[in-house]
Amino acid sequence: MVKESMLSQQMSIEHIEAWLRETRNDKLSLLWQTADKVRKDNVADAVHLRGLVEISNHCVRSCAYCGLRAPRKEIQRYRMTADEIITCAHQAAQWKYGTLVMQAGEDYGIKAQWLAEVIERIKKETPLAVTLSLGERSYEEFKLWRNAGADRYLLRFETTDKNLYNYIHPPLAGRSSDRIAILKDLRTLGYEIGSGVMVGIPGQSYTSLARDIDCFRKLNLDMVGIGPYIEHPDTPLGRNSLCRTALDRKDRVPNDELLCYKAVALTRIVCPQANIPSTTALATINPTDGRELGLRRGANVVMPNLTPFPYRSQYEIYPGKACMNEDAQRCQGCLTGRIVAIGRTMGLGVGSRL
Ligand code: SAM
Ligand code: SF4
Repeated sequence: MVKESMLSQQMSIEHIEAWLRETRNDKLSLLWQTADKVRKDNVADAVHLRGLVEISNHCVRSCAYCGLRAPRKEIQRYRMTADEIITCAHQAAQWKYGTLVMQAGEDYGIKAQWLAEVIERIKKETPLAVTLSLGERSYEEFKLWRNAGADRYLLRFETTDKNLYNYIHPPLAGRSSDRIAILKDLRTLGYEIGSGVMVGIPGQSYTSLARDIDCFRKLNLDMVGIGPYIEHPDTPLGRNSLCRTALDRKDRVPNDELLCYKAVALTRIVCPQANIPSTTALATINPTDGRELGLRRGANVVMPNLTPFPYRSQYEIYPGKACMNEDAQRCQGCLTGRIVAIGRTMGLGVGSRL
């Protein structure tokens, strides 16, 4: 049972958990209204567009949830050329997206110096902010890319439950994987930092999801991405696998859209100034109006996909990804239409944290 007065930036972890468990419609309406008001008061009505380019689907890691994991020999791997990426950047600038997000598997074939030169070209030839999301690279590489002009780095910590994290995101041989420590390093290098979690990972409890939201607040994140965990059948966490059965628990958070909206709304309330996307994963589980509901319940960013064919369908982190078969122009038209239809405006400029 939760009370209205408990909805505040300082709310306790216990209250966050109580709201995650809330099912009554009148209470949930209050949660949505509060999150929307906090969003409006802090980041206003602009929705920022971040053009996403999935620059490589090579990955050395074996995350139990992800379709790009290294052991999947059956998928065709690609790495975009510098010119292909620059073409996407020009397209983003032409469509007035403020940011280019370069995302990839943890791919050491992306050489640090090569990427630094790509970043320098984008900064020289366009007004875009550059966001990177390339997994766990070294401090020196992060420094080189920051010096080349990269503005932001996205690295989801996926869950604060250490045991669950190590199980689903095994460390590379001889290395530990501490994404929260990396986020702190990125901040000292002057990046805007973004993180986030999947909602409804097998083995995730309500208490741990509430702790995740508290962790966003403690890290004072500039960006927070929250989306449903979507099962990929050809991964260890896929249906009926032994790994999945071992993790199953009675108190598991469902990977449904309602839980995602609650997590987005609570995150907006405890991180009022953060940039929060209405994610592609949310649009995947509710293609009709998942994006709009995310935007009405706390989010203020969308990430239209700019990845060219045929790479777009080869970046299959989970099946049925929204917009996988759309071209970039249609994504642009569809998303801007959806933003305007709910009475919001297109973000101008690069859309950094205010
Ligand atoms: N390799 C980088 C990394 O792991 O940070 C960036 C790319 S990775 C595909 C980006 C995000 O996709 C991950 O942080 C994870 O949260 C999300 N993801 C991967 N598999 C997923 C799945 N099956 N369902 C939902 N989200 C997933
Ligand atoms: Fe690689 Fe990222 Fe997928 Fe993990 S989540 S397998 S690091 S692409």
